[in-house]
Amino acid sequence: MPQRSGILLLVSGPSGSGKTTLCRRLADEGEASYSTSCTTRPARPGEVHGHDYFFLSTEDFQQKVCAGEFLEHATVHGNFYGTLRQEVIDQLTQGHDVVMDIDVQGAAQVRGCANPHIRLALVDIFVMPPSEYELRTRLTARNTDAEEVIALRMKNAMEEMAHWPSYQYRLLSATREEDYTRFKALLMAERLRVSRLHQP
Ligand code: 5GP
Repeated sequence: MPQRSGILLLVSGPSGSGKTTLCRRLADEGEASYSTSCTTRPARPGEVHGHDYFFLSTEDFQQKVCAGEFLEHATVHGNFYGTLRQEVIDQLTQGHDVVMDIDVQGAAQVRGCANPHIRLALVDIFVMPPSEYELRTRLTARNTDAEEVIALRMKNAMEEMAHWPSYQYRLLSATREEDYTRFKALLMAERLRVSRLHQP
C-alpha cells in the first residue's frame, strides 16, 4: 500500500492566467501526473495528440460520454472537453498526485463527485490574472488565436472569474517564478495532511 493517498490538484482560471504553464511545469518536474483531457477542438500548431490533449471527433467524444468514461465534461468556447475517469482514479489509488487543468463547469462536477477517492484527493485552486488589462495583453501576445477568438475568450474569462470563491485556494498571478513557487508550496503542504496518511 502507498504511504499516502494521491492528491488531485484541480486548477482553473481563464485562458491567459498561466495555469497551463503551472500544471505542465509541476508534471515536468515529476511532482504530479498531468491529466490529459479529451477535446473536440482542433490541435494548435505544435500540439501533440496524447500529450496536450486527446483530439477526438465529436462522434468519438459523444460515445465516451454515453459509455460513462468521463469524470467530468463540458462545452468550453464552443468545443467539448472532458477528463477520463479511470486514469485519474488509478493514479490516485496508487498514491500518485495528479494535476488537472479544467474549466469552472468541470470543477463544479468534480466537486460534486461521490467517488470517495476523488473526495479525499481533491484540492482546487483558481488562478487569477493580475488585471483585465494584463489578461488581454497575455491573450494577444500568445498570437495563436484570431481576434474574434480572443474577444470570446475575454468575455468567457470575465464570467469564469466570478467563480473563484467556490475554490479552496486562489492564486493571484504575479511573475511566473512567484506563481510557481506558491503553487508548488501548496502541493507540498497538502502532502503533509494527516488525513492523507495511511496510519499504522
Ligand atoms: P484550451 O483550448 O485553451 O486548451 O482550453 C480551453 C479551456 O478548456 C481552458 O479553460 C481549460 O482549462 C479547459 N479545459 C481543458 N481540458 C478540460 C477538461 O477536460 N474539462 C473541462 N471541463 N475543461 C477543460
